[in-house]
Amino acid sequence: MHGAAFTHAGLLGTYEARRVPTGELASAVAGLRAPGVLGANLSLPHKEAVVPLLDSLSDAARAVGAVNTVIHRDGQLHGENTDAPGLLAALRDAGLPDLGPGEPVVILGAGGAARAAAFVALRDLRARAWIVNRTLDRARALAAEFRPHGEVQAAAPDDVPWADTPLVINASSAGLNDPEQTPLDASFLARLPAGALVYDMVYKPAETRLMREARALGLNAENGLGMLAHQARLAFTAWTGADVPVRVFLDALGEDAGSGSGAGRTP
Ligand code: NAP
Repeated sequence: MHGAAFTHAGLLGTYEARRVPTGELASAVAGLRAPGVLGANLSLPHKEAVVPLLDSLSDAARAVGAVNTVIHRDGQLHGENTDAPGLLAALRDAGLPDLGPGEPVVILGAGGAARAAAFVALRDLRARAWIVNRTLDRARALAAEFRPHGEVQAAAPDDVPWADTPLVINASSAGLNDPEQTPLDASFLARLPAGALVYDMVYKPAETRLMREARALGLNAENGLGMLAHQARLAFTAWTGADVPVRVFLDALGEDAGSGSGAGRTP
């Protein structure tokens, strides 16, 4: 994606993948202070561990509690979270219905991706967030942490007001590389109102079982490729100042999937 963006913007630059063992994170991050380095993306488990190694954090990174993008300027490292605004942009592209304040949004999962989803639901959409997770205690802990940002609670699927819920976000890894796995029984999807959006952050396979079952019920469903492309677009702009259309990133993901090497790595 970033190679295509450099080409589109007419800039000379490279984007390289590096495997960094946990014990080597500090030295890898120190290396980002070198002249000519624009920054980096981080994937699990480094998104939270990197925070104390940085000089400053954006409001979103602080509230989400995770950094997926580091920006280097004159020896200073700034932590940003582009997963949250990337998700919001992807939801809008997917036809997010207009939500009134306090309308329910259901988040499936309670890991790092669910934190970005909770931030979007509470801070951007002003929704009431219901967090449903395989391990209910983790959902409870996440809800407690985000309560300063708005109305949020952990719940078992039976306790969610499905009929009033215009948006469900799968932020769990159920379904990742397994077309038969789903984080939510279809009987709950069947209770959603017409026009509801089911957004699955998973993008491999391109149509997860959750999406397939939602579409079979006439609901709107989309995979996580849009979020992946938008978070990359926002990171690229933060590093270079260049505004490259999301289509460039999506096309690069499509080519990658077509070559058989996968749809890009999990950010
Ligand atoms: P994580 O921190 O490891 O959390 C995984 C979550 O999934 C946990 O809540 C876990 O529940 C739940 N889970 C795992 N397997 C499950 C199953 N079989 N049934 C039900 N729940 C299950 O991972 P993460 O970083 O939050 O990422 C979650 C997913 O989002 C991944 O698939 C990742 O690829 C995707 N993602 C996509 C984007 C994008 O740009 N599209 C960005 C970020 C993440 P427990 O608490 O019970 O273990």
